[in-house]
Amino acid sequence: MRYLSTRGHADRKQFCEILLEGLAPDGGLYLPENYPQLDSAALTRLRGVWQSQGYAALAFEILSLYIDDIPTADLQALCAKTYTEQVFGTPHIVPLKPLQAAGAAKPELYLQALSNGPTLAFKDMAMQLLGNLFEYELARRGEELNILGATSGDTGSAAEYAMRGKKGVRVFMTSPNGRMSPFQQAQMFSLLDDNIHNIAVDGVFDDCQDIVKAVSNDLDFKRRYKIGTVNSINWARLLAQVVYYFAGYFQATQSNDQKVSFTVPSGNFGNVCAGHVARMMGLPIDRLVVATNENDVLDEFFRSGVYRVRGTADTHETSSPSMDISKASNFERFVFDLLERDGPQTKAIFGEGLSRLGFFDLSGDARFAKAATVYGFESGRSTHADRIRTIQQVFTRYGVMIDTHTADGVKVAREHLNPQVTMIVLETALPIKFAATIVEALGRQPERPAQFDGIEALPKRVQVMKADADLVKAYITQHCD
Ligand SMILES: *Cc1c(COP(=O)(O)O)cnc(C)c1O
Repeated sequence: MRYLSTRGHADRKQFCEILLEGLAPDGGLYLPENYPQLDSAALTRLRGVWQSQGYAALAFEILSLYIDDIPTADLQALCAKTYTEQVFGTPHIVPLKPLQAAGAAKPELYLQALSNGPTLAFKDMAMQLLGNLFEYELARRGEELNILGATSGDTGSAAEYAMRGKKGVRVFMTSPNGRMSPFQQAQMFSLLDDNIHNIAVDGVFDDCQDIVKAVSNDLDFKRRYKIGTVNSINWARLLAQVVYYFAGYFQATQSNDQKVSFTVPSGNFGNVCAGHVARMMGLPIDRLVVATNENDVLDEFFRSGVYRVRGTADTHETSSPSMDISKASNFERFVFDLLERDGPQTKAIFGEGLSRLGFFDLSGDARFAKAATVYGFESGRSTHADRIRTIQQVFTRYGVMIDTHTADGVKVAREHLNPQVTMIVLETALPIKFAATIVEALGRQPERPAQFDGIEALPKRVQVMKADADLVKAYITQHCD
């Protein structure tokens, strides 16, 4: 398997070459040259693998279709080491939970639990694998990597929990001082591993992102200190997420003649893009429903054909904060497929076009209609009031407590139900991470998994710093010897 750039660059690369890279040299995103096709016999075989050997074995089967530069036994071992009951809290790793009222003939829909990993959000599904892949590949090359990131919550803690104790990797994670929830702060700052560095910046999330950009733009520093990232455009993260669409499908169906639909709470379009890849491989997915919050860049596109990025001032701070985005950094991958893989056109609209105009408009392009008709995409949006109401309804009707992001998914899924097709909503976080909104909706505290009892009282390690890229550079220099 070779990988190409969505912006038409002539290079073709192997999996391990792009594993540690971010963007392609022309600013595009990497995609496989083709999507391996699974016919019904192949799906039946994978169903058997899932049923008899479980998630890690299924992950190996899917990954090995896209990775041919890691020996089979090593890839198998990496999957087995990653997807364990010990790390993900359940032997099924991503179990389905029916939302079914007492006395009802069948569930209204299913939740697929993706948030039983170490940080209680779905980003663990991919990040845990990435940690093991990085450690493996860096050892093979005899190299080191310093991951520099900015987080307002989920991504940073998922990265730290994935990289803690890994050889060859250090993490320097900036976050806005005092602005994360107490639970999130406790989760991150209580990590005392030598290779994990929390930097609380006096400022807001944008200040953290600016620092990361400034450091990365210092090419000399970047090379000398081997600065890398783990952001959501990384192909390996996306690939890891493809696996749970298969696991969800196999749990919800008995035969490959049945279809299911997925509703996906979306921000950067990483999670649902993995669903698109699974569907392109032949997984019988009917609809892929994109659910946004008030930051509805994606819903606007699927309704109108216009993709309009938002300015900082137009980006809302919401009660589903992990979906608060101004542009969807993975969206270019889908648009490249929608435009029949026309690299130059993708480059024109995402490159110069977007930075000059702030939008592109495909409403007049005949291919836009295919987003729904050929690729199965639908969309909807949810607001704070919807979120509160949905959390209340799901709790009273089904006795199930859902988090704010999952609530956006359930709200939108309900607008796209089809009695003939099972609907699966991806549960992207547990309620405990967003306790304040749960209290607002239900008047009570969410349950806390036992391993998090008392984390607020644990010793913390964090370096508070002025919002200044030079200070962050000096800190990195000091801690790399
Ligand atoms: C990151 C995140 C999302 C959005 O996922 P994308 O891949 O960016 O679309 C949704 N919910 C939660 C809880 C998240 O952490």
